[in-house]
Amino acid sequence: MKIVIQKFGGTSVSTHERREQVVNKILKAKDKGFCPVVVVSAMGRKGQPYATDTLLSLIKEDFKLKNPLGVDLLMSCGEIISTIVLADELLRKGLKAVPLTGGQAGIITDDNYNNASILKVKKERLLNLVNQGKIPIVAGFQGISENGYVTTLGRGGSDVTASILGVALNSEVIEIYTDVDGIMTADPGIVSEAFLIEQISYNEVFQFADQGAKVIHPRAVKIAMSGNIPLVVKNTLNNCKGTIITNSVIGESDEIINGITSMDNRVQVTVNYDESNKIYNTLLEKLANNSISIDLINVFPSKQIFTIDSKDIDKFKVIAKNLELVYSLIENCSKIALIGSGMRGIPGVMARILKILHEEGIEVLQTADSHTTIWCLVKSSEMGKAINALHKEFLSHVK
Ligand code: ADP
Ligand code: ASP
Ligand code: MG
Repeated sequence: MKIVIQKFGGTSVSTHERREQVVNKILKAKDKGFCPVVVVSAMGRKGQPYATDTLLSLIKEDFKLKNPLGVDLLMSCGEIISTIVLADELLRKGLKAVPLTGGQAGIITDDNYNNASILKVKKERLLNLVNQGKIPIVAGFQGISENGYVTTLGRGGSDVTASILGVALNSEVIEIYTDVDGIMTADPGIVSEAFLIEQISYNEVFQFADQGAKVIHPRAVKIAMSGNIPLVVKNTLNNCKGTIITNSVIGESDEIINGITSMDNRVQVTVNYDESNKIYNTLLEKLANNSISIDLINVFPSKQIFTIDSKDIDKFKVIAKNLELVYSLIENCSKIALIGSGMRGIPGVMARILKILHEEGIEVLQTADSHTTIWCLVKSSEMGKAINALHKEFLSHVK
């Protein structure tokens, strides 16, 4: 039995016309002799009736803080609705589709609401359905805790559902269908010149995803890699081959940079100390204890500079007040990441980046680098201009 996991994102299931394309992809897989197990996201994006953000807008912030269990139950509804609507379309085409919640599909999680980890997959029900020639349509982004409560897996988590099912059912491949042709050199919504990357390794695409390319969830990449199941990202609306993600990429790319991603909502924090200040050694620990994660960390004898997510700014201000910190903030920043294993040991890459950004009149607030990534912090209002300029400098000759 050759199983294929086919995951369809929110825009792919948002209208009847698009769902017809989804049905075609499922039929095609069956024609090729595969047994499809389908995973769906909530229909559409913010503003559309059943999208996750729309559901979240139905409740007040206070409820969100005090009732994580209720929030997960609400968020899970979007995906459940999609399973039934798609199953209806498949049944009308004569296919035996069975809509299932994540819990019914056997996805058991811990009770870390909003960002639950999957503990195990009870695969018997799915296997029974597939053996009977039925097509399970599984609600993505959700599971059930051992106590029987509905949980969600973190935003963008339907990709995680697809990967965990792919590994549990030992599928031939995990197909992620979305609204772009695959993994591109940059977000095509920001860089119109961005182009498709036909093949890429799990490790490199993990960097893309982890650094903000929301086309695939980083946990989905890690899980597929752990089971060595090929991941393919492709467009629901055309027959483009998409991006294949495996361990064995044929032919090393000799490019310095393979892609550029970005992360918004960063706040740069600068904390100044005088010599006698005892807080110096404890601030970072205090932030960690309050679940505030920091990055782009630079430590100097008289100051510390780092960035936090804007969602943590109020928590930070309370800590800063209690510790009587002397600090300044630059809000509305974006962290740009230039990713490429080819930059290892090549001199002058940072110099080229700074030169280009300077020529564009873009202020670089901070930088950091590793063997495979260079990060630049810029104001969010300049992020698009910066990424386009860097894409032109490092990637325009490749296509
Ligand atoms: P889905 O609802 O199908 O899961 P997402 O919105 O989560 O879709 O992800 C697809 C979006 O990811 C694209 O519309 C695109 O704007 C964005 N994206 C960001 N970075 C990249 C990239 N490097 N390659 C392709 N798409 C990207
Ligand atoms: N609907 C969920 C979200 O918007 C999960 C997903 O789309 O993957 O985050
Ligand atoms: Mg997504």
